[in-house]
Amino acid sequence: MTSPLNQSDPELFDLISREKRRQRRGLQMIASENYIAVAMLQCLGSCLTNKYSEGLPGQRYYGGNEFIDKIERLCQDRALKAFNLNSYEWGVNVQPYSGSPANLAVYTALLRPHDRIMGLDLPDGGHLSHGFMTSSKRISATSIFFESMPYKVDLKTELIDYDKLAESARLFKPKMIIAGISCYSRCLNYSRFHEIADENDAFLLSDMAHVSGLVAAGVIPSPFPFSDVVTTTTHKTLRGPRAGLIFYRRGFRKADKNGQPIMYDIEDKINAAVFPGLQGGPHNHQIAAVATALLQAKTPEFKRYAQQIVLNAKALSSALQRKGYRIVTNGTDVHMVVVDIRPTGLNGGKAEHILEQINIACNKNTLPGDRSALNPSGLRLGTPALTTRGMNETDMEVVADFIDRGIKLAVRVLKVSGTKMFEFKKVIFAKEFVPEVRSLKREVENFADRFPVPEFQDGI
Ligand SMILES: *Cc1c(COP(=O)(O)O)cnc(C)c1O
Repeated sequence: MTSPLNQSDPELFDLISREKRRQRRGLQMIASENYIAVAMLQCLGSCLTNKYSEGLPGQRYYGGNEFIDKIERLCQDRALKAFNLNSYEWGVNVQPYSGSPANLAVYTALLRPHDRIMGLDLPDGGHLSHGFMTSSKRISATSIFFESMPYKVDLKTELIDYDKLAESARLFKPKMIIAGISCYSRCLNYSRFHEIADENDAFLLSDMAHVSGLVAAGVIPSPFPFSDVVTTTTHKTLRGPRAGLIFYRRGFRKADKNGQPIMYDIEDKINAAVFPGLQGGPHNHQIAAVATALLQAKTPEFKRYAQQIVLNAKALSSALQRKGYRIVTNGTDVHMVVVDIRPTGLNGGKAEHILEQINIACNKNTLPGDRSALNPSGLRLGTPALTTRGMNETDMEVVADFIDRGIKLAVRVLKVSGTKMFEFKKVIFAKEFVPEVRSLKREVENFADRFPVPEFQDGI
C-alpha cells in the first residue's frame, strides 16, 4: 500500500512514462489540449480525492468538510474573479466533472424532456453535447432527451448564418439557444445570439469551452454580458485540469409586458441538477486544481500567454496560406486553424494519419457541407499547447513547414496506394517512403526538444 507506482505497478508506470515521453517529444496541436502546471498536478494527486462532500459548501450530506468547504468557496470566488463577474449578477457551480456533464446539467435544470434546443450543427463546428443527431440516429443524449434543431454556417462565407438562425428560431420556437463551438475559428456574435434568444423567450446558453482562456485574458469578446448561462471546460485554453463550470445569472432578468421585473430563478435549479440530479460527490482534487488554474488565469503572464496563442494561430494560418493551403474562413481570431484538405487530394483522415507518423498530433474534422463524419475534409490545428511550451510566431513558420512536408509526402504515398485508407497506411511503411517518414519525424522531435515542458520535471 505504501510503495510508489513504479514499484507497486511497474507495468502501468511504464505506460504512463511512455505517454509522458510522447507528449514531450512531439508537437501537440489538438486544439482542445494543453499542458497543466505542476501546481495543478499536485492538487490532482492530493488527499482531496479521498473525501466525500455531496451538497454545497455549508450544506453537506457528510461531515468533515471544514477544509473542503473553504476550497470549494475559494474556487467559486476565483471563477467569478477570473471573468470579472460580481456575485450580485452571477453565481457559479464548480462541481461538474467535465464540459459535457455541465451542459447536460443546464438542460436538466432549465428544460423539460422534449423541450426544443438549437445549437451549431456538429459538422459545422458545434459540439456533440449541443444536440447532435443524424438523419437516421440520435447520437448525443442531448438529442434523445430534447428535440434538437441545429443551425448552420453559410456555405459561402463559412460563418454562422445568423439570419437563418433567426428565421428558424421563429418557426421552431426553441426553449434554449446554445452559442458555442469546437471547430470554428471566428469570434461569435453574442449580442446577435441574445437578440434572437430574447425574441423567442429562449434562454441563451453560451458554451465557451474552447475559448474560455482567451475570454479570461480579454483577448476575445466575452459571452457574459449577453448570456443567461455560461458553461466551460477548464482544460482547454484555460489551461487547468479536466473539469466543467456552470455560471448562472442572478437578479433581474427583464421586464414583462406591463413593465414588471422578471427575476432569474435558475440558481437553485442548476445547483440541484448537478447534485443530486446528475452527479454524486464532487471531485475535490479536481476543484482544487481548478481553483489554482483560475488564480493563474488572473496573472499578467496568463494574459500574455493567451495573446501569444492567438498570434501563433494567426502566424500558422498565414504560413500555411503562403504554402498554398486553403484556410476555412480565410484565417482565425482564436487558437485554432481549420485547413481544407480537399485541394491536396487527401482527406482529413489521411492528413491526420501522416502527421501522427511524424509526431504531430492534430485531428481530422468535418467541414461545413461534408456528407459523412467518417470521411471529413478538414484538419483542425491548435496552438494552446505549443504556446505553453514557449513557441512564438517564428516557430509557427517551422511548424507550418513540417506540416506541409508531411502532407506533400502523403500526396506521394497516395499516388502509390490509391484512396483506400488501409492501403495508404500500409504504403507509408513501404521501403521507398520509410526513410523519409523517419527523418521527418526525427526533425520534428529535435525541434520539439528545444521547447521543454517545465511541468514535466516533477511528478509522473
Ligand atoms: C470540449 C467541449 C465540451 C465538452 O467537454 P468534455 O470535457 O470533453 O466533456 C463541451 N462543449 C464544447 C463547445 C467543447 O468544445
